Amino acid sequence: MSRVLAAALVAVLWACPAIAAPTVAFAWPDGQRAAVSLAYDDALDSHLDTAIPELDRHGLKASFYLTLSADTVRSRMSDWRAAARNGHELGNHSLFHQCAASKPGRDWVAPQRDLDTMTALQMQEQVRLASTMLQAIDGAATRTFTVPCGDTAAGDGDYVAALADDFVAIKVMGGAVVPDMQTLDVHAVPVEAPVGVDGDALIALVEDAARRGTMVNLTFHGIGAEHLAVSREAHARLLEHLAASPEIYWTATFRDIMTWVRARAAPPAPRPAAVSP
Ligand SMILES: [Zn+2]
Repeated sequence: MSRVLAAALVAVLWACPAIAAPTVAFAWPDGQRAAVSLAYDDALDSHLDTAIPELDRHGLKASFYLTLSADTVRSRMSDWRAAARNGHELGNHSLFHQCAASKPGRDWVAPQRDLDTMTALQMQEQVRLASTMLQAIDGAATRTFTVPCGDTAAGDGDYVAALADDFVAIKVMGGAVVPDMQTLDVHAVPVEAPVGVDGDALIALVEDAARRGTMVNLTFHGIGAEHLAVSREAHARLLEHLAASPEIYWTATFRDIMTWVRARAAPPAPRPAAVSP
């Protein structure tokens, strides 16, 4: 390449903001390019009957956000315990899954579970009780929280911020792929809940995270059944893709991923030295 051509190429690259300002790649445990958090909300039968056998077949670990009042927590507690023993995370998804009935499309919110009628203090007490119940189920002292419906406002204001010290990390809504690990707020991690998509669409999301060197957070509900479903086939294709490239994807529980992220967060800026009078 001639020197002139090389100089021109450098000039073009420098003019492109995406290339001109590279960020330092975030270091994942074994040099992988992205962390993948697979999560399953609402304690559904298809998690125990379809998702967990498929995950276990590939040796992948995931997080299951239990609504403690869900039928399966009572009727299939031994199955949830077995999942936790096998390395999956039982995450907190509150006792009663309160969401704001005032938002559009919320006809399904039962009046006694309307977040608009709760105070922030009531929600905080309930979420902490949910953690105690989860500890009674799995014995774990730390876990993560996914805010039901991503609704952070109780009737009298935000209830989630005061729970920051109770959890390794907290997920809200906002998109599947984290744009930048350096600026990630561990108590407001973005997540996407795919519905009705095929395997290619799911794989495109994890590939995007690998390109960026960040992490991807996918929250599933029903797998081939129940509400907000993704088909068994689409889910299975994603898991096959992840399992086939362990050198690219670190698929782990959200608790493990965020413990790693927190250990590598930039330390707080030092306070200015006191100036003597
Ligand atoms: Zn939910």
